[in-house]
Amino acid sequence: MQIFTTIPGLRTFLADYRHDHSIALVPTMGALHKGHASLIRRAVTEAEVTVVSIFVNPLQFTPTEDFSRYPRSLDSDRQLCESLGVAAIFAPSAETLGIGDSEEITAVVPPISLTSGLCGAFRPGHFQGVATIVTRLFNIIAPTIAYFGEKDAQQLAIIRQLVRDLNLAIEIRACATVRETSGLAVSSRNQYLSAAEREKATIIAQSLQLALESFRLGERQREKLLAIVQKNLDRVPEFRCQYLDLVHPQSLQPIEQIETGGLLAIAGLIGQTRLIDNIILRQRRAVIAIDGPAGAGKSTVTRLVAEKLGLTYLDTGAMYRAVTWLVVNSGLDLSAEAAIAELLSLAKITIIPADSPENVTIVKINGQDVTLEIRSPAITSQVSRIAAQKAVRQQLVTLQRQMGMSGGIVVEGRDIGTNVFPEAELKIFLTATPEERARRRLKDLEAQGNGGISLAELTQEIEKRDYLDSNRSLAPLRKAADAIEVNTDHLTITEVTEKIIALYHQGSSTLILRSKE
Ligand code: AMP
Repeated sequence: MQIFTTIPGLRTFLADYRHDHSIALVPTMGALHKGHASLIRRAVTEAEVTVVSIFVNPLQFTPTEDFSRYPRSLDSDRQLCESLGVAAIFAPSAETLGIGDSEEITAVVPPISLTSGLCGAFRPGHFQGVATIVTRLFNIIAPTIAYFGEKDAQQLAIIRQLVRDLNLAIEIRACATVRETSGLAVSSRNQYLSAAEREKATIIAQSLQLALESFRLGERQREKLLAIVQKNLDRVPEFRCQYLDLVHPQSLQPIEQIETGGLLAIAGLIGQTRLIDNIILRQRRAVIAIDGPAGAGKSTVTRLVAEKLGLTYLDTGAMYRAVTWLVVNSGLDLSAEAAIAELLSLAKITIIPADSPENVTIVKINGQDVTLEIRSPAITSQVSRIAAQKAVRQQLVTLQRQMGMSGGIVVEGRDIGTNVFPEAELKIFLTATPEERARRRLKDLEAQGNGGISLAELTQEIEKRDYLDSNRSLAPLRKAADAIEVNTDHLTITEVTEKIIALYHQGSSTLILRSKE
């Protein structure tokens, strides 16, 4: 692991990776704890190169706040990053980031509607300071993906808007809040708490938990949910609440009733220490992501799981076929990537998932039904060339996410759990040893009258394919940190399906607000 304090050093280091590697950024103020570690762990598994920035940003502290006594621990931060597989730490000085004289800099001003409420009302200038520095880090590092904690939900909403508004080609990924066993959200500022205060501070998470339980039982009204939380907070008068609010998770505007989702947020003081916490109350059906190597039985199992659970099978293959059809019919050269990106951006692809396993996914392009045409041998033979194009993949991943927004889908692929739906409620990594997959393939081939290849040759072919799939620069095969591995070696398709269904039922009975590492 390398440590850089200058922009030229870091940029030169990253230049080697920029073209064919994904770069992750985890921006922090240091004093790293297990909350930060969970962001870093995800970054390391989901991207090829991870940079952790450590910078105690003076612009985000108001004059009366704890800038000078904010904990700093570069040595232990370095050890933690190294042990987690971070490629580089970026620890610049204020001068390096060009904010020696904060009056004279170009600031990034997020929309007032996002910054005026919640923490913004108590920390004037805070989010402008965050946005200004995060934009600089984004420009210096140009990451593919950046990770932020849901614990700072207002910050997350503001950064998402910033990335959209400034057309930055960065994907923002949100990570669940990590808690102590007591429920207390882990924070660098928890170090300021005495043992007694730490105990009192658990009232915050406990109150959120009550709201969650009430939400689970069907409560959707602002007044009722806030009253439940307030009543519980009142039990600990040492907690001086600054705000308690229910807002829309993206617009951050107060809501009277939860339709699709609500952010219930709390901030206040225990002694001199300011603490924040929140919970997202979201009503959505699960997303099940099934990844794994070729030949592990993913597509059969995925269809069966969808059918048995009454969920929708999202046929991503049909989407790539649709684009291939579009390109072939437009007469464009199949390698004209920029023209294809433009063509696809202007096209309207409609995917209507099959309502039963006997039916196929209906696909329309610009209103024309191409369901049958996309299955022709002419299209089949070209799909992989189109699917290997970055812009195509990016646009189709966006479409897939739109289709999965309200949940209720099962999707299979190589990077569904790590890239397409990293927030999926259930992630399965379906594998089988290369030998077993070779045996299955040989059986299929023989049934079609196409024997003549040895088991050893097939095994070798499969191993080669695994290697290529795991090392390709676009959408490499990867097991998500929180995926459950299911080895299908000695299992029938029915047994595998049942196992996944059991895991789904187990998962949906656990509470969201749990201590999580
Ligand atoms: P900070 O160092 O406090 O600026 O935090 C750096 C990043 O870590 C931010 O994206 C925070 O939201 C995130 N973070 C801080 N605490 C936690 C936690 N307990 N769980 C998850 N993420 C966290």
